[in-house]
This record gives sequence, structure tokens and C-alpha cells, in this order.
Amino acid sequence: MRIVILGPPGSGKGTISGIIGKEYGIVHISTGDLFRYNIREKTPIGLEAKSYMDRGDLVPDQITIAMLEERVGRPDCEKGFLLDGYPRTIEQAEALDVLMQNKGWQIDIALNVCVPETFIMKRLAGRRVCPQCGATYNVYTQPPKKSGICDACGARLVQRPDDTEETIHHRLETYEESTKPLIDFYENKGILKNVDNRGAVEETMAQVKKVLN
Ligand code: AMP
Repeated sequence: MRIVILGPPGSGKGTISGIIGKEYGIVHISTGDLFRYNIREKTPIGLEAKSYMDRGDLVPDQITIAMLEERVGRPDCEKGFLLDGYPRTIEQAEALDVLMQNKGWQIDIALNVCVPETFIMKRLAGRRVCPQCGATYNVYTQPPKKSGICDACGARLVQRPDDTEETIHHRLETYEESTKPLIDFYENKGILKNVDNRGAVEETMAQVKKVLN
């Protein structure tokens, strides 16, 4: 199965994608995570991407498409994959179509994770991440057992540099302008499925399973 996950920043795409990846045994590829890895490792991609990410801008398509194509070309993607945070522009979606054609594959489903804007601010401003193991928490809705400390590995939790209020506003504008048109793009292909992620993650997963099964 090959899936793309759409939705605004803070819609909970990452959490849902992680669960789908585990439950369906397919690779979860988050372009945001790939960029953060490259930044930590100080690779040429990371050095190039950092300033765009810190401002809440999209990393240019040329860099992003090349990084994604390299990742999807690895053997673990042959059984299927789930793209979280990619595509984010029509140009990326068209490049993905070409890649799929060249490989004789197709995207089966575009899952659109829907939440009202009022939820988004709270989710992003409250988000804390573990720099060591990648676990995600929310100080309002999903706090760690001990404040500021990762339940899984004991590291001190941090706020992502692009989760400040000003940057969040900018990321939402970027979403409206560049990424939202992808809803129509995949609707026109007949593969768009909406899931409502206002409630508990279990409720959302029940909807996701209906769609995927
Ligand atoms: P995310 O973790 O998905 O919220 O992504 C964090 C940041 O990484 C975004 O705000 C962008 O700066 C960058 N990024 C991630 N995916 C893409 C993409 N497909 N195209 C361009 N920039 C991206």
C-alpha cells in the first residue's frame, strides 16, 4: 500500500502516520524528520534547509524532491510506504506521479487529516519533542508523566524551533497557499479520503482503518 497523508501543520499527521506505519508494516517517511536528521548531522541538505525551516517556509522543491526520491528508492519502500508531509506543493505532487510511473507503482490513497484551526494553535504551541528518541508529547493534551522529561528514554524534552507562535502563523499561511490545493489534486484522482482528527487518536484510527481496509 502506498499512502500520502495531507493536513495542516498540527493536524496530528505525524502521530497518525506512526501508528499506520506500525500497524500495516509499511515505512513511515516524514520529510520534516528527514530534514531534522540532516540538520543534526550537518549534511549539505541540512545546512541548506535549516534557514527555511526556522522561518516556517517550505524548503525549495528541488532539494525536497531529490531527498524524497532518494529515500523512496531504498529497498525498504518496495513493500509500500506512507509519506507524511510530502507532497506539500503541486510541483512535488507532479514529481511524485512521475516517480510512481517510472517505478510502475501508484499512490493508492491520499488521507486528508482534518481539524479546525482553533485546535491547531493549541496542538503546536503545546507540542514538546524528545531530541533523543523522537517521541512527541503535548503539555495540554498528552503530557509526559514527569514534566519536561521523556517517558520513553528520560531525555529532557524540547520545543521545536518552528513551533513558536509567529512561525506557526506563517506555516499556516504557507499551508493555505501552497499545500491546500493538493486536496483538489487528489480529489480529482478519486483517491482522497477525509478523516476527522478532533477527538481521541483511537477514534481517528477507527476511521483510518475503515478507509484502509
Ligand atoms: P513537518 O515536520 O512536516 O511539520 O515539517 C517541518 C518543516 O520542514 C516544514 O515547515 C518545512 O520547512 C520543511 N518541510 C517538510 N516537508 C517539506 C516538503 N514536502 N516541502 C518543503 N518543505 C518541507
